[in-house]
Amino acid sequence: MPWVDKEKCTGCTICVKNCPVEAISMENGNAEIDMDKCIRCGKCHEVCPQEAVRHDSEKIPQEIEENIEWAKRLMKHYKTKKEKKEFLKRMVKHFNKEKKVAEESLNKIKEIEADKK
Ligand code: SF4
Ligand code: SF4
Repeated sequence: MPWVDKEKCTGCTICVKNCPVEAISMENGNAEIDMDKCIRCGKCHEVCPQEAVRHDSEKIPQEIEENIEWAKRLMKHYKTKKEKKEFLKRMVKHFNKEKKVAEESLNKIKEIEADKK
């Protein structure tokens, strides 16, 4: 999902004009993306002359940190070593499922790309 780095955005409105679903508006001189409307086409990344539209992948370290904080918070609900171990196993299952979804989606996208050649 795209997001706007407000430090870099100069408010030129190029992204607003190029968004196919009118998901970008101007708020206090900066572009603002309505994630409910955004279809994640990536056009705004391409057209921004300031590289102000950033990619989600830059938030990976932050998201990992949030996941770990989430796991630590939930772990406090379990008292015994056994309960904690079982809980961690469930977390591993959860993240393995997320990983599987991403891997299979990437494989399918590769198949689509191969069809287009
Ligand atoms: S990714 Fe596409 S739909 Fe989403 S805000 Fe950017 S241009 Fe609009
Ligand atoms: S194209 Fe870039 S600099 Fe211009 S308004 Fe959009 S995000 Fe800001």
